[in-house]
Amino acid sequence: MSQYTNPETIALHGGSHRADPNTGSVAVPIHQTTSFQFQDTGHAARLFGLAELGNIYTRIMNPTCDALETRIAAMEGGAAALAVGSGQAATTFCVMNLCEAGDNIVSSTDLYGGTWNLFANTLKQFGIEVRFVDPSDPEGFARATDARTRAYYAETLPNPKLQVFPMAEVAAIGRRLGVPLIMDNTAAPIICKPFQHGAAIVMHSTTKWIGGHGTSIGGIVVDGGNFDWEAGGDRFPTLNKPDPSYHGAVWSQAAKPLGPIAYILRMRTCLLRDIGAPMSPFNAFMFLQGLETLPLRMERHCANAIKAAAWLAAHPKVTKVIHPSLAEGEARKRADTHLKGGMGSLMGIELAGGKEAGQAFIEKLKMFYHVANIGDARSLAIHPATTTHSQLDESEQAMSGVTPGYVRLSIGIEHIDDIIADLEQALS
Ligand SMILES: *Cc1c(COP(=O)(O)O)cnc(C)c1O
Repeated sequence: MSQYTNPETIALHGGSHRADPNTGSVAVPIHQTTSFQFQDTGHAARLFGLAELGNIYTRIMNPTCDALETRIAAMEGGAAALAVGSGQAATTFCVMNLCEAGDNIVSSTDLYGGTWNLFANTLKQFGIEVRFVDPSDPEGFARATDARTRAYYAETLPNPKLQVFPMAEVAAIGRRLGVPLIMDNTAAPIICKPFQHGAAIVMHSTTKWIGGHGTSIGGIVVDGGNFDWEAGGDRFPTLNKPDPSYHGAVWSQAAKPLGPIAYILRMRTCLLRDIGAPMSPFNAFMFLQGLETLPLRMERHCANAIKAAAWLAAHPKVTKVIHPSLAEGEARKRADTHLKGGMGSLMGIELAGGKEAGQAFIEKLKMFYHVANIGDARSLAIHPATTTHSQLDESEQAMSGVTPGYVRLSIGIEHIDDIIADLEQALS
């Protein structure tokens, strides 16, 4: 646990790394190694038996990844974290860590396209059912829950609708029924702290705002350390039944001497061991560089987005601007209660001329990059109906909030005048 509570300070000083004990290196060294020398045979046996925690093999843990994991755990206010090879791997592990064939999770319909496909199609192959519910009715989560529901899943600020998920309400329903809420907080680092609203697990695609410079793919899962898995009994077989792959260890018990980290410990010792998908030490280093300036970048991202949203809303060719700063009613209330210090930098605009106008606008942008990414320091744009959401049929697109004329913007940290100038010339 970090001694600091302010995100600006945690981003630089949080977690396990101070200076490197061997060299004094202030920057976190890139430990580009597969394996770690044991002190003696007893040490090796203790590490394998989990009697002592330490480095064995980079598929399972690595000191550069550890520096990132402990710093992000501190940033989110969680107990421990696990870095993996992508945001998709993080989501897959979040579900697989609790579900066996025949089990289910209940998920919001408002999801990243990759997560949608994983949930709607790929997990089915393994006998895991995902029950989709409309997030505007939190009680839908309760109605979809049965004895084999292992978790709830949602995104803090899902695009394209950009309506903040009713996190506190659904977490409370889950706490009542004994079901943990897993939040994808990719689009709202720093500005939303899901553990403060009752979430049990947080994941990020570090590819986006945390990395912030569009260089590396990665993901991370943070264990809030705030959920009583043991009390859930049969609801959590992977954590409460003896694990034959680890001499019959019961993870909710085995983790006790190490802290409230049963969920993340099992993810590391079983899923990383068997399935792989670790984060590379080099990418962990890149994400640490991004993390150090993340609080500062988020401030600028959010300030620019509010100004761009207001400017676009007043433009005659723009029929609709979707950004939490312009939301009304219940959506506005949720944005105000869950987001602190900013409303995020994703934005949707709808253009009068539909699909052709959306595509033409993208073609005319000069400074904005046209890419399938978000959260970069640079401003980005894409036309979802013909790209990110093109694998969905028309009714699925409509359900997810993508209209033919919708353009997604990820507002960067350039000077606001240059952002608006590029939008202006592209619209004219
Ligand atoms: C990009 C993204 C993911 C997937 O992350 P990758 O690092 O690309 O695998 C998951 N959730 C959200 C909200 C994302 O934006």
